[in-house]
Amino acid sequence: ALRQLIAGNWKMHGLTGDLDKVGHIMRAADEAKPDIGVALAVPHTLIFAAAELADGSRLDIGGEDCHQAESGAHTGCVSAAMVKDAGATFTIVGHSERRTDQGETDVLVAEKLSAALKAGLSVILCVGESEAERDAGNAEAVVAAQLKTSIPEAVDPDRLTIAYEPVWAIGTGRTPTVGDVAAMHDSIRRSLKDRFGDAGISMLILYGGSVKPENAADLLTASNVGGALVGGASLDPESFAGIITAA
Ligand code: 13P
Repeated sequence: ALRQLIAGNWKMHGLTGDLDKVGHIMRAADEAKPDIGVALAVPHTLIFAAAELADGSRLDIGGEDCHQAESGAHTGCVSAAMVKDAGATFTIVGHSERRTDQGETDVLVAEKLSAALKAGLSVILCVGESEAERDAGNAEAVVAAQLKTSIPEAVDPDRLTIAYEPVWAIGTGRTPTVGDVAAMHDSIRRSLKDRFGDAGISMLILYGGSVKPENAADLLTASNVGGALVGGASLDPESFAGIITAA
């Protein structure tokens, strides 16, 4: 089992000309400590080429989203089977940017999570509170409710990773204190134990939101932090490699 997972999320960045960055990240993954996993979620258009490039390395390539249906008349959408077929081993679901930009609800996210598992992918499920919710003292309750509804009835806990990403920390350069991260991750762990028993103890809980090489070591030592989900800094292979080394 992995001690920690360092995952990148390129979001809507990356053209074929950026594949050399995947090569660089792949080399960093191969040099990572043996109990550290490295993963990179890329736009659908890059999954095939990135997965070919990373084949035989320790870097796992994933998607950033999938549709909830197996197939059908959904112009422009991409199914979990397509993501898998292109070479991904996992997908992100429930990222706060999709919850906001595409109006995705916990119920829809649960359907996507089921579809991804059914297609044979592993899943990184994102949850996290807004700034107003934290200021109101509701952060842990909001995240617990997201977990409750975004995780469908029947799941294989061995293929599920949770990413705690406070919305106000994404792309802002602001992060919670290490103490706040630990408190939230402990709370998430309690939810997972209640739901999954022993399997909930070993599930990785990533922290995401303005993770940089400079703050990674501190954040990654917080209680129940099983790695990081990295946006902006994953676009720069040197920075991403610095975070991998910090784990
Ligand atoms: P940043 O690392 O750019 O804050 O993004 C975090 C994120 O949303 C990863 O999914």
